[in-house]
Amino acid sequence: MSDSLDAPVLRMAHCARCGAYSYPPEAWGCRACGAAADALDAVPCPETPRLKNFVTVHSELAPGLPVPCVIGEVALAPGVVEEALIGVADESGLRLDMPLRAEALVEDGRARWRFVPVAEGGAA
Ligand SMILES: [Zn+2]
Repeated sequence: MSDSLDAPVLRMAHCARCGAYSYPPEAWGCRACGAAADALDAVPCPETPRLKNFVTVHSELAPGLPVPCVIGEVALAPGVVEEALIGVADESGLRLDMPLRAEALVEDGRARWRFVPVAEGGAA
């Protein structure tokens, strides 16, 4: 598949002052305590992302977004939920709180993230 050693890793900003996480990693400051950006370190996502909600979108929300597609609310860390594209053909295999894996789609040198369900039982 698309896995390779230099695949981008989903990162978040971790606050050295209060320990909270912010997203994106280039955040201007800590969303929890307001510490300035120099208190933040970009670290890999601290836990397995989980699916908190999802909806099928039938009209083009953004240029190039294939429709229909599934948009989910993904919990990246305690208190941090982001809307993201879910890499499935339809909602039928999705359930709330299921674990997800971040996949980078690199376009024009910039990573866009989508999330795919983690196969339970090990097989991918
Ligand atoms: Zn903080």
